[in-house]
Amino acid sequence: MLKVGLTGGIGSGKSAVSSALSSYGAVVIDADVIAREVVEPGTPGLAEVVAEFGEGVLTADGRLDRPRLGEIVFADENRLASLNAIVHPRVAERSGQLMEKALASDAKVVVYDVPLLVENGLESLYDVVVVVDTPDDVRVERVSRDRGMPREQVRARIEAQADRATRLASADLVVDNSGTREELAERVAELWRELLERAG
Ligand code: ATP
Repeated sequence: MLKVGLTGGIGSGKSAVSSALSSYGAVVIDADVIAREVVEPGTPGLAEVVAEFGEGVLTADGRLDRPRLGEIVFADENRLASLNAIVHPRVAERSGQLMEKALASDAKVVVYDVPLLVENGLESLYDVVVVVDTPDDVRVERVSRDRGMPREQVRARIEAQADRATRLASADLVVDNSGTREELAERVAELWRELLERAG
């Protein structure tokens, strides 16, 4: 089974690409979904986060208050490391379980949607790294249009992530998403053929 790491900056179109690949028969594993699952109410992960950071990181209904936790950890590297020490092993364990499940299926390709693949230096975990490449201005327009996020906030997120050249340097394959959705669909069809070929 071919292990594909799919990445790209905020609003580049990773979800659009992974859902198209899933329709072709790839198993898709979404790192953001797993990262949320491991700290859902009632999980040992959330209990550990509260033990470390206090009840102040919970909302009134007992869920993790992500913006609040973000304020704490992004202001202090040590706190961020503590959070990562709780979350990362659980994400790794859950990913492993999902990988086992994928291996047990007859899928030829498993796609990991990992937004911070390059930032976290995770290239070696995958057989193929696919980068969704979309110009910054286009991403700003799409994300502000579709998610109502102010343009400045999108720009700030872009600034906080790896830049285009750095991301492209890690790419085995690149999907250009500067065009229409129809053009993207064609590119993903080509990508799928390439991945199947590499899967053997
Ligand atoms: P994030 O990292 O923020 O989760 P993402 O990389 O998963 O983002 P998507 O959510 O797939 O990106 O795409 C960002 C937005 O742009 C979405 O609202 C999506 O519908 C839209 N979009 C994606 N591709 C195109 C396209 N070719 N033309 C127009 N809109 C697009």
